[in-house]
Amino acid sequence: MSTQRVAIVTGAARGIGAGVARRLAADGMTVAVLDLDEAACQTVADEIVAAGGSAMAVGADVADEDAVKAAVERITAEAGPVTVLVNNAGIIRDNLLFKMSVADWDSVMNVHLRGSFLMTRAVQSAMVDAGFGRIVNLSSVSALGNRGQVNYSAAKAGLQGFTKTLAIELGRFGVTANAIGPGFIETEMTAETAARVGVPFEDFKKMAAEQIPVGRTGTPDDIAHTVSFLVSEGAGFVSGQVIYVAGGPRD
Ligand code: NAP
Repeated sequence: MSTQRVAIVTGAARGIGAGVARRLAADGMTVAVLDLDEAACQTVADEIVAAGGSAMAVGADVADEDAVKAAVERITAEAGPVTVLVNNAGIIRDNLLFKMSVADWDSVMNVHLRGSFLMTRAVQSAMVDAGFGRIVNLSSVSALGNRGQVNYSAAKAGLQGFTKTLAIELGRFGVTANAIGPGFIETEMTAETAARVGVPFEDFKKMAAEQIPVGRTGTPDDIAHTVSFLVSEGAGFVSGQVIYVAGGPRD
């Protein structure tokens, strides 16, 4: 079947999201590259189009209800009904619990949890109408607990519960929902963590790789490959799962 699927990838101006957007376009989907800064999205969308794919740039804050509604309406009008959603937008505001501000707690919850909720709610009727949908939420190995990330680990664990409930509610409409829990992936986010702890990024990556069974850190392509599988037509019996993509096992 050669249906041209329309996918939204949030937080796609850089890092994992940009890698996922490029991959889904290469897989034949029309991709809405959504992030806070529309100009940065345009750069990724232009690269996709130059490579022969189909993409549009959309500036929106996933935590803003009106912005999400407007973005999904625009994407639907310009590209068609959205049947693939990758909730990837994310931020870190790390600190030990006793130093963590309420603002840093709230902003992490808002982007990851409220953002994924708003985006998913906005596209679910199109998926139900199509009798087909694929939702992938970016969790993290941090969901299992990580020092200095009480906000982020709670949000990422929350996304796993969110995913499983979506799978239960939407399964009968042909919609699957899965979560990916990346380990260490080389992006601006991990570079930011290295800078915060005062270690050069190359050394930081080397130290991380020593703890990873496959002996290397991950790249956005590692995550994009897993997303590509989960959103494929043939993956309709895989739902409510959390797949750790971390170069080794996680419980
Ligand atoms: P990244 O390089 O920081 O990219 C995240 C993107 O999300 C940025 O472009 C950011 O925009 C955007 N974003 C932030 N808040 C947003 C909002 N409210 N609305 C729309 N877009 C927003 O991060 P990454 O490393 O690619 O991570 C992608 C996802 O994977 C995140 O959910 C992250 O938690 C998860 N993850 C990453 C790793 C890793 O090792 N890198 C590991 C586990 C999980 P701005 O730049 O404008 O803020």
